[in-house]
Amino acid sequence: MNENQLSKRLERVGAFVPEQSRLADIGSDHAYLPVALMLQNKLSFAVAGEVVKGPYESAKKQIQKNDLQEKIVVRLADGLEAVTAADAIDVVTICGMGGALIRSILDAGWNNQHLQGTERLILQPNIGEKTLRDWLTDHGYTILDEDILEENHKIYEIIVAAREKRRIAYTEKERLFGPILLKKRSAIFLKKWQQELKQREYVLKQLAQATGEHEEKTARMQAELLQIKEVLADES
Ligand code: SAM
Repeated sequence: MNENQLSKRLERVGAFVPEQSRLADIGSDHAYLPVALMLQNKLSFAVAGEVVKGPYESAKKQIQKNDLQEKIVVRLADGLEAVTAADAIDVVTICGMGGALIRSILDAGWNNQHLQGTERLILQPNIGEKTLRDWLTDHGYTILDEDILEENHKIYEIIVAAREKRRIAYTEKERLFGPILLKKRSAIFLKKWQQELKQREYVLKQLAQATGEHEEKTARMQAELLQIKEVLADES
């Protein structure tokens, strides 16, 4: 992967960024995404935020190499502290992290008002999608689109959300599977949930053999297992 040849995962994230956006890419590492989108003339301005010195330096180098210092600002900061209201950011991308970490970045941004609530969020959690959809639902976001893809034997989900007038109370099922992914039912979606089914069956077997109190976990796993079976069997 480089700034001219993004990974399939980041390319699909980039496809959700509207033309002429002012983007904040949080956890930008090499700044591949903002640099590639800027080179495609898709952005008018970008902030690349990084909390770790090494990736921050790599992002700076990448931007200098492409002579984009005037258009992409790199900031060493924790999460959304990388952006200010003056940046007038309208799209935030947070990719390649666990859903719980993305959730905590959004939550801190919400509480310290670095997240205005007007930005389109394009999130690509590696795991923990449900906890992210829980946060989005609780904070009045509508899920505008979703994508699922496989790259290097890993399955990734992308969630696009914004706060709109209509507020949707997503069900537990929609939060687990993704309201739009559920409707699209792509081959990769079905493959992911076949794998999740096997994994839960394995855990349930282990729990049945384990000593100690596991009733709560077992009940949760069984409920999810049932839901997954229903979704996989749903031919409608
Ligand atoms: N976003 C890129 C991608 O999807 O390929 C890089 C993903 S990399 C696995 C995660 C990056 O997020 C790391 O460079 C890490 O330092 C950064 N990161 C983790 N927590 C962060 C936070 N609270 N604020 C900013 N960056 C963070």
